Amino acid sequence: MSHLSVATRQAEKRPNVSFEFFPPKNETMDERLWECVRRLEPMAPHFVSVTYGAGGSTRARTHETVGRIVTDTRLTPAAHLTCVGAPREEVLQTAEDYYEAGVRHIVALRGDAPQDDDFAQPEGRYTNVVDLVTDLRAHRPDLGKVFEISVACYPEPHPDSRGWDADLAHLKRKQDAGADRAITQFFFEPEIYFEFVEKARAAGITIPLVPGIMLQPNFNGLKKFAKMCGASVPDWLHKLYEGLDDDADTRDLITANVAAELCHKLADGGVEQFHFYTLNRANLALSTCHLLGLKPATAEAA
Ligand code: FAD
Repeated sequence: MSHLSVATRQAEKRPNVSFEFFPPKNETMDERLWECVRRLEPMAPHFVSVTYGAGGSTRARTHETVGRIVTDTRLTPAAHLTCVGAPREEVLQTAEDYYEAGVRHIVALRGDAPQDDDFAQPEGRYTNVVDLVTDLRAHRPDLGKVFEISVACYPEPHPDSRGWDADLAHLKRKQDAGADRAITQFFFEPEIYFEFVEKARAAGITIPLVPGIMLQPNFNGLKKFAKMCGASVPDWLHKLYEGLDDDADTRDLITANVAAELCHKLADGGVEQFHFYTLNRANLALSTCHLLGLKPATAEAA
């Protein structure tokens, strides 16, 4: 893989990046988020998204965060919205509230049901993200036309997967219901992504499948999360973080390099958009962008 060839290609075409944040829980986290937003703003991302806690647990904080992105920055926010188990009217009201706050992009998700719940929900509550995407388009046609809708997809089987055929048919239903793009769960081997894209294209999925790139320098946390969501953690990654439990600085450097290397390989295979799971840490997202040859928009204009 040649960084030079990537740099040359990027001189011709600037890759699209988007950044994902989570809504802060306290003042310290709030300061960290906004420092992160300010430092990443010059990278001119396509959009920045803000997660939504399971069961609507962060509804107010997600709303406040996307609202502030609208009023205080030049960034385009995307608000995540999970639906499983929640009353339809309540979820659609949240979407309308986002609209009123100036948000025009929703990341529509089923989310995780509370434990011991088999997704069987009482009448009037969502069980399925396809219904949410359908409703977002149809409930208020005026809003439905305006919203850009992203959904999630899984290059490696999600724990609830019923097999590839069912997964691809489900993703196709999300597309057919009106999703504009799907953002992938994180992965570490480019082949995993390329094989997934090939299967998806063969199944009639034509929307962009944007790779989600994880920037989690806490390797123990990463392993736990990967286990929960079905992402594989390759042996070589275990080896890279070996012996670094007490060395956060080196873990940061490795994390940015691993992410950049993955993006380079994806870019060599034709990928032009990357979604970064920033964990509200500017340094990792910024170094990864720089390693990718992306300069702040202001520096490019100069
Ligand atoms: P789906 O894609 O609907 O389903 C997940 C799995 O079940 C897939 O394998 C799918 O094929 C299968 N499945 C579901 N229904 C059917 C069906 N009818 N037939 C066949 N197969 C089916 N969680 C949060 O709580 N808040 C967030 O903000 C958040 N943001 C996320 C952003 C991204 C980009 C990603 C990838 C995940 C995010 N998550 C978030 C995690 C997500 O909520 C969980 O992975 C959840 O378990 C699945 O939600 P989903 O919308 O992806 O579900």
